[in-house]
Amino acid sequence: MDCNGIPNEVLQNEELIKYLEEIAKDTALLHGILMRTKESPNSSEVVSYAPFTLFPSPVPKSFFHQALKVQTHYNRLVDRISQNPHYLEEALASTIKVDDFTKRLFNIYRQVQQEPQSKTIVLGLNRSDYMIDQTADGKTALRQIEINTIAASFGGLSSRTPDVHRHILKVAGRLEDSKLILDNNPAAGLAKGLAKAWELYGSEKAVVMFLVEDVQRNIYDHRYVENELWSRNIPVIRRQFEDVSRRGSLDQNKKLFVDGQEVAIVYFRNGYVPQNYKTEQSWEARLMMERSCAVKCPDISTHLVGTKKVQQELARPGVLESFFLDEPGTVAEIRATFAGLYTLDMGEEGDQTVTMALANPDRYVLKPQREGGGNNIYGDEICRVLERLKNSSERTTYILMDKVQPKPTYNYLLRKDEPLRLKTCLSELGVFGAYVRKGTEMVMNECVGHLLRTKSSEHADGGVAAGVAVLDNPLLV
Ligand code: ADP
Ligand code: MG
Repeated sequence: MDCNGIPNEVLQNEELIKYLEEIAKDTALLHGILMRTKESPNSSEVVSYAPFTLFPSPVPKSFFHQALKVQTHYNRLVDRISQNPHYLEEALASTIKVDDFTKRLFNIYRQVQQEPQSKTIVLGLNRSDYMIDQTADGKTALRQIEINTIAASFGGLSSRTPDVHRHILKVAGRLEDSKLILDNNPAAGLAKGLAKAWELYGSEKAVVMFLVEDVQRNIYDHRYVENELWSRNIPVIRRQFEDVSRRGSLDQNKKLFVDGQEVAIVYFRNGYVPQNYKTEQSWEARLMMERSCAVKCPDISTHLVGTKKVQQELARPGVLESFFLDEPGTVAEIRATFAGLYTLDMGEEGDQTVTMALANPDRYVLKPQREGGGNNIYGDEICRVLERLKNSSERTTYILMDKVQPKPTYNYLLRKDEPLRLKTCLSELGVFGAYVRKGTEMVMNECVGHLLRTKSSEHADGGVAAGVAVLDNPLLV
């Protein structure tokens, strides 16, 4: 690594690295950077550290601050799109014809649109992800990868990783670097949003329900947010789709009850991929929750705003302007973070996208409407897929995006049972946003923290939960 990060004499000092590895794992455990194991994903009897980098990774100060600053604009943008049925219909029209999952979500959306909503408390907890692009001519720019409007994770664990890296750096003799590690507490900020919405819901006994998966390896990440709520005397329960479908109901005022408890907020940490809906009953449970007057985080429209297709449609000229009339500054700040995004809809424009991708596949990423990592298509595979689909409307399940090419860094990735090796790495910066709207009034709109994830550059795709990226901290340079 160059002078921008941890110097070579540290990175290549085998004895020191071995010593630090041990210190790092113990410190992570002491600070609660925890994850359940693959072998027993639903047990807390034997747990391990969540994967993380040995050292923090360099992130240019200016891009870091740019990403934080634009977050409140993104919060408002997501919220505004979610309230624009005409726009959502239009943006997703081609996708819902061919993508069954998006279609099912959209059907729920249409159904609840037709019902009058009494309480309008909206809670958005999202995470906008970026990479720093370095073009051939040496220019760099912050580029949004995507915005996660449902189940954005690692706000909990990333609240505790700064102390781990500070400690490692001190032991490595890098006291001055350790002072550069920023505090970070997304767990508190996410809980603040949940607490605000809970107060507005206005029933002391009503609970916040975390809707969770049946496999819960990442439970500790949730627990940080959960325990923040309990410390504010806000009761929390954890339930799965199945629980809601078996023991949940709406009363005549559309209040949601599960196991006899009134639910003030449904906080979805599940429900973002088709596999989460194991049975038709899961879909019915989702519909019931959406129809209820409980605050949904996110509600179905906000969930849909997070689709890759909406992201692509937003990049069209004039669209951002239509959401921020008379705010050219806001539009410019958001647009500055966009990478090139291209439609694959049937027609001339989509045909051009196909031609462009086939000519230079290495410049692009082909993305389906899926979340959770591991779904994107790169390089020669793009050609194979597009050759097969180019004359079929099935191509519209994808969008095409410019491939962001960050400058590699060097680091060690600590992961249970994996030997430690110096790796060429790429980092992705996430920024957490929280907002609450009551009727037409935004009562909270904040940037509540960050998340740096780093992966070995041999992997094109994938997040922490997918077993590819690991937790990290920015070392601002
Ligand atoms: P998911 O919803 O699966 O997380 P993402 O859009 O975040 O979808 O893509 C998954 C991963 O693929 C990202 O974390 C990033 O590593 C990589 N990736 C996605 N889009 C791009 C891009 N335009 N350029 C480079 N890498 C990308
Ligand atoms: Mg992602």
